Amino acid sequence: MVLDLRKIFLNDGKTLPLNCEFDFSDLEFFGGYPLKTPVKVTGKVENRAGVVEISVECEVSYSAECDRCQTPTVKTYNISFGAVLVSDKESDEDDELILLTDYKLDLQEYCFNEMIPRLPMKHLCSDECKGICQKCGKNLNEGNCDCNNHEVDPRLEKLRELLGN
Ligand SMILES: [Zn+2]
Ligand SMILES: [Zn+2]
Repeated sequence: MVLDLRKIFLNDGKTLPLNCEFDFSDLEFFGGYPLKTPVKVTGKVENRAGVVEISVECEVSYSAECDRCQTPTVKTYNISFGAVLVSDKESDEDDELILLTDYKLDLQEYCFNEMIPRLPMKHLCSDECKGICQKCGKNLNEGNCDCNNHEVDPRLEKLRELLGN
């Protein structure tokens, strides 16, 4: 979806509301397809006193297995970002600025680039998730098992997390 922002750039005070959905369901990362439902995008592009700014909020429904107990988990994240847009007639080497060619912005690509790095790296079914017994494989959220390792040394737990279990 490419936005033509010429009218916004040429009219001080003009606003373009954003309200759309993007399908990233075929996007594979961390070994799965976490964005099974479309990402809802709201926000606006606004020209304030000649400065054109985009602000976006993405509502992301993220499906993944819990990092500790492997239970399929869906969580909703609201991710906000924005930037100042400049047309190709100006030149500025500032990271916060996005340089547009011919007043055009690919909104889906922009959202993708900004959203993905802001997604949390860890996905837990709950902050208190007890994980899985390393001996018998029982999900300890459903109760204790009969193994003798109920007392988990927090340092070992950290090590397990580092090892990805
Ligand atoms: Zn869990
Ligand atoms: Zn056990």
